[in-house]
Amino acid sequence: MRLLPIAAAIASTLALCPPVAATDPAAAAPEIRTIHCARLIDTDAGKLLGESTIVVEGARIKAVRSGNADVAGAKQRIDLPTSTCLPGLIDSHVHLTMEFGPTTYSDKFRLNIADFAIRGTVYAKRTLDAGFTTVRNLADIDGESIALRNAVNAGTIPGPRIFTAGKAIGSTGGHADPTDGYRNDLAGDPGPKDGIINSPEDAWKAVRQHYKDGADAIKIMPSGGVLDESTSVDNAQMTIEEIKAVVAAAHDYGFTVAAHAHGAEAIRRAILGGVDSIEHGTYMDDADMKLMKEHGTWLVPTIIAGKTAEEQAKIPGRYPPQVATKALLVGPIIQTTAGKAYKAGVKIAFGTDAGVYPHGQNAREFQYMVDAGMPPMFVIQAATTHAARLLKKEKDLGSITPGKFADVIAVDGNPLDDVALLQKVRFVMKAGEQFK
Ligand SMILES: [Zn+2]
Repeated sequence: MRLLPIAAAIASTLALCPPVAATDPAAAAPEIRTIHCARLIDTDAGKLLGESTIVVEGARIKAVRSGNADVAGAKQRIDLPTSTCLPGLIDSHVHLTMEFGPTTYSDKFRLNIADFAIRGTVYAKRTLDAGFTTVRNLADIDGESIALRNAVNAGTIPGPRIFTAGKAIGSTGGHADPTDGYRNDLAGDPGPKDGIINSPEDAWKAVRQHYKDGADAIKIMPSGGVLDESTSVDNAQMTIEEIKAVVAAAHDYGFTVAAHAHGAEAIRRAILGGVDSIEHGTYMDDADMKLMKEHGTWLVPTIIAGKTAEEQAKIPGRYPPQVATKALLVGPIIQTTAGKAYKAGVKIAFGTDAGVYPHGQNAREFQYMVDAGMPPMFVIQAATTHAARLLKKEKDLGSITPGKFADVIAVDGNPLDDVALLQKVRFVMKAGEQFK
């Protein structure tokens, strides 16, 4: 407090003196930089633009000019004369603190949560280097993705902007049960604090716990899954009352709700329960697709996860036998369903289930989506404008538009001619900071 008059005196002295620092507004304003691209993808309009100049002021886009424009006062000029620029990509479904490998099923008995957190810092950087400047982290082990998000936000480690669901919410013995497959004396009886609910009352407690823990979104498991050690991939594991309670509680706190669901009945219940997105959607039937459209529910297909699980299931001993059986069922279907959903007019956001396959290979999903019948511009929009809307962050993310965050990536060549080019991102800027 005693310092205040001194500070005020210094400030007034500076204000009265005429040196350059006090009169040059640029000295205090955020730095202006320009990015010069051979082509630019306007994801809002779904158009490929020619030579363009992106003007970045601090963390945000200030302007987009056509041609190779000179901008007065620019402190840095980034020339990408052979590149196509596009907005930073958004993966709506990742698991940044885990990655499947030969020891995954025993790791949970040997590794501590700190081990997962530290690995997450490496996976986060790989994801950012691959051009994914924003991710939705749909479940971790014990809140370590919240620490990861905080470290990225504080600038402690490089990584994508993370919106995390913390722990998944599901029922006893289901896809979210952290003790699935454990010996009885080790399994205990996880409850709402661990994400395990068996009533609408439990649902409220679990969501409120997520608010306390610092989550940004909610992930539920209304159907069985591939990689847990139970037997069914598609059975319904939550009642519609439980799902509605999760959604009502989530909305109190401004959370969106993502529902992992393979089975048609679980998908139906999740849509009617009011979730924002269906993840995977493998056995989605025509009635589900109609409901998806009526309710405006997003599909996040994660084709690469199905493909990877199917490949891994063929390696003897890689998965427990019941997991291998489930993986071989889901793998061949998930891509076909995604293609049907696109044709039916279901809203689709890009998401990959990163961690099921190695982090950093997220962009392989673009090729799988195109192979399923989706046009290249559509799959790029799925990972930009669509994913931003699913996050309810379309004012800040998803396109290179004045006012939005300066999340810009570049690839050589034209990814609309060959989406596989998105697997070779050469330039990455997130919020005005150049990482690659
Ligand atoms: Zn997942």
